[in-house]
Amino acid sequence: MLAQNHRGHQSHGFATYNGGLEFYSELGLIPPVTEFGIRSRVRVLKGSVGIANVRYATSGSSDVKSLRRNAMPIHGECGNNAVTISFNGNVVNVRDLQQQVGVDRNCSDAHALCRLILIKSTETGSIEEAARKCMEVVDGSFSITGIDNEGTLFAFKDPVGVKPLCYGCSDGIKAFSSESVGLDINGIDLERELRPGEFMKVEDGCVTREQLASCGRRAFCAFEFAYFARPDSLFGDTYVYRARQNFGVNLAQRYYDKALRCDVVISLPETANDAAYGFHEASGLPWDMATRRHRYVTHRAFITGGRERQNVVVRKVNLLKPRVNGKRLAVVDDSIVRGDTTRNMVRRLRAAGAEEVHLFITFPRITGPCFYGIDMATYGELIGAWREPEEVAEEVGANSVNYQTIEDYVNATGMRRNQLCFGCVTGEYPTPMANQMVKEMKQRLTLGEEEMGRIYEFHRGQ
Ligand code: SF4
Repeated sequence: MLAQNHRGHQSHGFATYNGGLEFYSELGLIPPVTEFGIRSRVRVLKGSVGIANVRYATSGSSDVKSLRRNAMPIHGECGNNAVTISFNGNVVNVRDLQQQVGVDRNCSDAHALCRLILIKSTETGSIEEAARKCMEVVDGSFSITGIDNEGTLFAFKDPVGVKPLCYGCSDGIKAFSSESVGLDINGIDLERELRPGEFMKVEDGCVTREQLASCGRRAFCAFEFAYFARPDSLFGDTYVYRARQNFGVNLAQRYYDKALRCDVVISLPETANDAAYGFHEASGLPWDMATRRHRYVTHRAFITGGRERQNVVVRKVNLLKPRVNGKRLAVVDDSIVRGDTTRNMVRRLRAAGAEEVHLFITFPRITGPCFYGIDMATYGELIGAWREPEEVAEEVGANSVNYQTIEDYVNATGMRRNQLCFGCVTGEYPTPMANQMVKEMKQRLTLGEEEMGRIYEFHRGQ
């Protein structure tokens, strides 16, 4: 889980099966694990089947009490039946689902999913049928792993496969992981990515799989490539670092004249390193390490909230003034979401003496919210929602902002256009309820009404 701590910082937790289910969860990042630490954990968490989670919240409140309540794995019991799940994604029809399964609205969507799985598996005696039910009634993204009360390990993905989830095995160990790096680091060979709508089960060491739903398209979150995933993870046939390098090549080629205006290319933040290298290769500009990252500030700025996000950036990244002073900079960044960290960074570059700052952004312009597990929920918070690139540049104090096109982005990933979700860029979402909510959000804005935060936490479908 250490290998995947970049996917969530709010809490971490583990569950194992040893004739019964055992749990451990705590707030924050996974602490450094010492030999003693491992031994003391193993005393609590016994068994040869386990699941774990690092949580990045896009549902429920962020006060300490809520974070503790919503730390995963989530456990549910009903008579003799029990189930525990780890969930990556976001339920768009969360209010309807909570009401349907009788879960308090102060709980996160994972509680409602766990309850649904518990109810259906109790009714039918089948965990597959419970997964099928999720695929029928849940609008949103979900990659789920879980254990039932007989120690069966199961995993499944939503019908369009928004979030990653892969399977691997080696020497009798079978494992599922959001990213292939979680398998690599444990010496487990990656077999493949689960298909959208696919269900897999490991029972008494035997693996079975079943296609429970098929809607004819895939909508893998495109943002995984630009920002969220680790560069050494593999999605489809493409390593994330390779896609990022291609992003940089594309940007240099598409904005070649602008690239040639610059003296040097730098990357900010670290997620843009591979793209900066690609940009350097294609443009011929020298690539300079003009920043140094503080090794012991481990939080990621994007998945940290509001004011804390600024603090993380300032604490984490220091500028080497001599490398910036008097230069016209091509700055490669992975994305501009709210613009606050970008504005701050441009201000610091100018203060360090940069003559010009041209931003080359690997992810296309984000113009709308995400409903599937990236915490950008309103138009108002997105700097690119209603602004053209020139206006974004003015807002953040840069000389220019140059976004990747969707076409270039798709080509760089090795996937096809209809295999990726670009909802936050195009406004076309892969599930019906998200499209309905976007329509409502726009209607409200037209009427001059204020946005309400995460609309899916207020919205009732029926
Ligand atoms: S809307 Fe954007 S961030 Fe959300 S899943 Fe789709 S591509 Fe990813």
